[in-house]
Amino acid sequence: MISVYLSLGSNIGDKKAYLEAALERLNQLPQTTVTAVSSFYETAAWGKTDQDDFLNVCCQLETELDAQLLLTECQEIEKDLHRVRHEHWGPRTIDIDILLYGSEHIATETLKVPHPYMTERAFVLVPLFEIAPSLEIYGKSITSYLKTLNLEEVRKLQS
Ligand code: ATP
Ligand code: CA
Ligand code: CA
Repeated sequence: MISVYLSLGSNIGDKKAYLEAALERLNQLPQTTVTAVSSFYETAAWGKTDQDDFLNVCCQLETELDAQLLLTECQEIEKDLHRVRHEHWGPRTIDIDILLYGSEHIATETLKVPHPYMTERAFVLVPLFEIAPSLEIYGKSITSYLKTLNLEEVRKLQS
């Protein structure tokens, strides 16, 4: 079993329902169990700022799927949840990114792990810290990256 961390985001429609549906689908994947889910966090859009706020969550999986197959499965879930690709970093019902796959470094045409922007994004690291506070990324603690970010951009959803 490999321990995997994912980041999920939504900024169209019933965002919480999309995230919950995606988590449910992830848990139903073969040889895969969702072992931890963070709180939900609201975040202003990143990169392309003229769009609705995002709702973000991180989860941990234990899986026997290899990384490429897991990516394909995640994209299948995105498709099923009506994600339409219009523009890079544009609005979407659901986005599922693979942050970490065990301690592997992967750099293929379609898959880069650790996820290239994860250490720069408060909306990724804040929920990730909640479920994995002692995680190391590129040999440095998650807290050392969090210190460099504006954490006020990310608000925990009260519910
Ligand atoms: P970002 O990757 O900056 O968060 P994005 O999530 O909006 O941007 P997408 O349009 O969802 O980007 O994905 C573009 C491509 O990124 C996918 O088709 C996939 O092949 C590739 N990709 C590379 N590394 C990863 C990863 N770690 N997790 C998910 N997709 C990845
Ligand atoms: Ca993304
Ligand atoms: Ca993505």
